[in-house]
Formats: sequence, C-alpha cells, structure tokens
Amino acid sequence: MKKILVTGGAGYIGSACSEYLLDMGYDVTVFDALITGHRDAVDPRARFIEGNLADRELIMDVCRQGSFDAIMHFAAFSLVGESMKDPGKYFGNNLANGINLADAAIAGNVKTFVFSSTAATFGQPEKTPISEDDQQIPINPYGESKLCFEKVLKWYSRIYGMKYAALRYFNAAGATALHGEDHRPESHLIPIILETIRGKREKLMLFGDDYDTPDGSCIRDYIHILDLAQAHELALSAPESGHYNLGTGNGLSVFEIIKAAEEVTGKKVNFEIAPRRPGDPARLIACSDKARRMLNWKPRYESAHAIIESAWKWQLKYPEGYAK
Ligand code: UDP
Repeated sequence: MKKILVTGGAGYIGSACSEYLLDMGYDVTVFDALITGHRDAVDPRARFIEGNLADRELIMDVCRQGSFDAIMHFAAFSLVGESMKDPGKYFGNNLANGINLADAAIAGNVKTFVFSSTAATFGQPEKTPISEDDQQIPINPYGESKLCFEKVLKWYSRIYGMKYAALRYFNAAGATALHGEDHRPESHLIPIILETIRGKREKLMLFGDDYDTPDGSCIRDYIHILDLAQAHELALSAPESGHYNLGTGNGLSVFEIIKAAEEVTGKKVNFEIAPRRPGDPARLIACSDKARRMLNWKPRYESAHAIIESAWKWQLKYPEGYAK
C-alpha cells in the first residue's frame, strides 16, 4: 500500500483528494496548519498532524520518519485579491514554506511530488483554450508564487531526481458527499450563488458585465474536485515529471453559471452588477488534452449542472459548513 503525505488535507481540495485516496486503499497522512482548513474536514481514516510548513524542523522530521512514497502538496493561500494586498503572505507560504517541504521530501527520500498549481500562473492568456506550453506571465502574486514553486520543483527534479507533476487547476468546484467548499469568508462564485439562493446572503455581486465576452461576464472552466482528485492519483504513476492543465474545456460565463444554478435548484438568484474585481482575466479555459493522453485522465463531471448539484447537496446537508 502506498503511503501519501497530503499537505493541506483539511482544505477544500485536499480533503476531497484524501477521501478519494483512502477510498482507493492508500495510506494517508494529512499535514495541515488549520489556518484556512477545518479539523472536521480531515477524513477520520487519515493520520493527522497539525503543523505549519514554516516549521522546517517539524516537516523535516515528518518526512524523515514517514517513509512516504509521495507527497501531494495542497497547503497554500489561494485568494487573488488578498495576494494583491499582501504579497509577502503569498510568497512566504506558497514559496518559502514550499521550499521547506521540498527539502524535507528530499531528506525523506520521497520519490514523487504532486503539486497543486493553478491557471493563475498563465495570467492573461495569449490564446484560449490554454495549453501547457503557453507563456506564463502571472498578473497577481498568487499566480506568481505558484509559478515560482513550479520552477523550484523543476530544479529539484533535475538535481535530485525527484519526479513531480504540477497540476494546474482551472476553477475547482463541486463537492463529494462528505467534503465541500467552506472558505471563511467565502469568495468563490458557486458557493456564493448557492448561499444567496438559500437566503444566507442577500445577493451576489457580479464582478463586471463589460468584459470582451459574449454576455460581458467572465468566462471560467469549472472542474469538479473529484475529477481533480482522480488526476492526482493518476499522476502518482506518471512515468516522468510534467505539467498538466486540468479543466473540462467548457468555458462558462458568470451569467451561465447563475442560469445553471437556477435550473438545478428551481430558485432565482438575486444579483447586482458590480465593478470588475482586480486581477480577474476575462477568459480562462483549459486545454486538458495532455492530461487525458498522458495520464489517461477522464473527467466524469462534464456539465455545470452536475457540478452545481453536488455543491447544492453539500450545502443542504451542511448549511453552516464544517463545525468551528
Ligand atoms: N465572481 C463574481 N462574484 C463573486 C465571486 C466571483 O462575479 O462574488 C466571478 C469572478 O469575477 C470570476 C468568476 O466569478 O469571473 C469565478 O470567480 P471565483 O472567485 O469563483 O474563482 P477564480 O476565477 O477567482 O479562481
């Protein structure tokens, strides 16, 4: 049985990925500082270590003693807007603390490293859909911090021989039966729409209807967290290091997501047009042919309706999210 260290396993994507790995029979250790993650999101079948990657000695000890076959690294800060106000927070955690983890991986003789990267490494894309080799010019510190860490992994792989996969998620969305999206404060489109429908918030502020897109709102590629989890598992057995864009390839505008949410729930979304949000590109759509070809990845949730329905079920089951 393979032993996997999952950093950020108490967070949104890390918790769903842990659940997926445990269901497949992997041995999972979650390492999480519980700054944005939730203790209740840690799968009870996993070992749990509460710790911060800033604690270099701790993560060194964990990796030296853990005999891990692989690390999946989700622990990071991930808000574009916040990164524009506090870049040091992003370079400190996503880059400097990431280097502690990479050094610990080498010290612990970990053979495979799967990194949670992002479409934000591309900035304003030169074309859509975006393929792996397109130029990466981030337009915010969040994207830059993730791109820097991709480069760290490239050099660690060359110098120490550690195999890595950088998985660039587009818009992670949806829920499993047990794990869903609970950011505090919430800033993501689909949970905000569903909270508005439930009356938990008064309205959705729709950030910009004057983009150069058919209906004027931003277009994104929403991908279910279980499809992301599947890609992580497949990346463990990739024969060589690589970068992979993960999305469905279907671009949907904010207005289209609102419409789909209304169809899934049978209820109207109250929204107001607001100014553009700084750092938001008009259009981000993935070309995921490489992951389909090289990792044999097949996303199962191709429609926005299926993704939104899973998130809706989770919100109805956990109306207040995870316990504090
Ligand atoms: N969005 C919005 N109102 C909100 C949250 C998001 O209009 O309250 C828009 C946002 O401008 C973007 C899309 O929804 O075009 C997805 O945003 P989200 O924060 O979910 O993900 P991101 O694209 O930033 O990773």
